[in-house]
Amino acid sequence: MISADILIIGSGPAGLQAAIYASRSKLRTILIGKTKYSGLSWAHIENYCCMDGTHLGSDFLDNGIKQARSFGTEVIEDEILKIERIDHRFKVHTDNGSEILAKALILASGVRRNRLGVKGEDKYRGKGLSYCVDCDANFFKGKIGAVVGEGAAAASGALLLKAYARRVYLISEKLDIGERLRSQIEAAEIAIIGSQVKEIQGDDKVRSLLFGDDYRIDVDGVFIELGQKGAVELVSGIGVLLNNDGYIMTNKAQECSVAGLFAAGDVCGPPFQVAKAVGEGCIAGLNAAKYARDAK
Ligand SMILES: Cc1cc2nc3c(=O)[nH]c(=O)nc-3n(C[C@H](O)[C@H](O)[C@H](O)COP(=O)(O)OP(=O)(O)OC[C@H]3O[C@@H](n4cnc5c(N)ncnc54)[C@H](O)[C@@H]3O)c2cc1C
Repeated sequence: MISADILIIGSGPAGLQAAIYASRSKLRTILIGKTKYSGLSWAHIENYCCMDGTHLGSDFLDNGIKQARSFGTEVIEDEILKIERIDHRFKVHTDNGSEILAKALILASGVRRNRLGVKGEDKYRGKGLSYCVDCDANFFKGKIGAVVGEGAAAASGALLLKAYARRVYLISEKLDIGERLRSQIEAAEIAIIGSQVKEIQGDDKVRSLLFGDDYRIDVDGVFIELGQKGAVELVSGIGVLLNNDGYIMTNKAQECSVAGLFAAGDVCGPPFQVAKAVGEGCIAGLNAAKYARDAK
């Protein structure tokens, strides 16, 4: 059994920033996660403060891992399967069979993005296919884009995209939105297509969408806005409270309802942005270190 002062679940920006602060406090800090599963690994970032131009999210992650290691964080590429609460400590079980006991735990496991589940979805992710209109609309200036989804997130996404793109399709078999949004969609001249996408097609990037009835439209990109789900299954067994939207509930110190448990980043809810993840990671790292130092 491995013992740690602070264990961090997730190697995205929230977990990495938490690790940097926690390990600089000279407490044993272990970070578990796979950078390839971070939302940031597919992103092109241009809205994070004080940067010049557009940067690959994967470069941010590589640098973050090096930086956290340089301050003493032990980084393990593995997955947590179960968390238990034993004698005021957290015991976690990993996919590779390890068991780790920690005084403080930081949950920075992001959100699972709901997939469309059609041919081309994996191939074109980051090549014209995105799960975040707020993040990537700016790459569609003067282009043709489509948003796929049934609810308000998809309709609002289509409206935002229309502020950039020259033409926008909202693809929804059962559009479930109120009158106000529906009239805004009409006023913005967004075409609603009530069919099911069968395939996302292209060459080195997205070029078209094929529907069930073999109807095809040409697009430069597609956004999948089917909502997000917090990765709460891991902590459901230790009695953590969730907010009304199903995300982990925290206070301003990023403390959860269980003593010694902290959460940061997308797992705490929107906005799903690097800047928020990093800010919350900083607070969680500092407060988890204080908690671990004071723990008997
Ligand atoms: C296509 C795309 C484009 C984006 N563009 C932008 C943008 O331009 N600007 C912006 O600010 N934001 C953007 N975002 C959002 C941004 O990437 C996220 O807000 C950010 O990555 C959230 O950080 P996080 O650390 O909370 O979670 P993530 O980065 O998602 O990291 C979660 C981590 O948790 C780990 N994990 C999950 N479950 C387990 C488990 N059971 N055991 C161990 N580890 C686990 C994963 O392996 C991963 O390392 C974009 C997102 C996407 C998908």
